[in-house]
Amino acid sequence: MSQFVIPQPPVPSLPVTGGSDLFPVRRVYCIGRNYAAHTIEMGGDPDREPPFFFQKNPDNLDTSGAFPYPVKSNDVHHELEMLVALKSGGTDISAASALDHVFGYAVCLDMTRRDLQGEAKQLRRPWEIGKSFERSAPCGPLIPASTIGHPAKGAVRLSVNGAVRQTGDLNQMIWKVPEMIAYLSGYFELAAGDVILSGTPSGVAAVAPGDVMEGSIEGVGALSVKVV
Ligand code: MN
Repeated sequence: MSQFVIPQPPVPSLPVTGGSDLFPVRRVYCIGRNYAAHTIEMGGDPDREPPFFFQKNPDNLDTSGAFPYPVKSNDVHHELEMLVALKSGGTDISAASALDHVFGYAVCLDMTRRDLQGEAKQLRRPWEIGKSFERSAPCGPLIPASTIGHPAKGAVRLSVNGAVRQTGDLNQMIWKVPEMIAYLSGYFELAAGDVILSGTPSGVAAVAPGDVMEGSIEGVGALSVKVV
């Protein structure tokens, strides 16, 4: 019988609300520019862009409530997003059946080394250096769709040290959750354990050590994370 030649790395996971169950994470897809006002603040045109995705690493997800300020950056931004967790997958999934694959939802932060992302954009390089660093995706617990349904509207809000930074509504997404699943499944084979970060409303801005970020999505939950 084969054995691993080094200790097996831990399986990245998210806690599920209301018990001790864990959701194992396989892949992390993130959509860029999915709210018109954020697209404009990042210099894009919300009417002309097809969706695009990048990936974080599964072990970038973190539920500790602390976000260590990352190395090699002086401009680290918060992006509050709804995380969508899949319980099944496939290829060429239709938008009409896409929500059948969703296990649940969570409040999440797509923390970004904006200065490094900006350099990468300018040099036409990949975004991982700006996006996919250690503990770059603080997350709250997953709440099952069997409990809350599939939220298509609801206030999205992030405050830092009590001052509101980001506000929006899930109904302002350019590409809706079923459309994102359908689109991704045309390019990748989706599977149980995959999660999708569904984009951020406008108001992204820098944080500093000591800041407390408090995010909420109506009907999904809340998240409090301290920058350390
Ligand atoms: Mn984002």
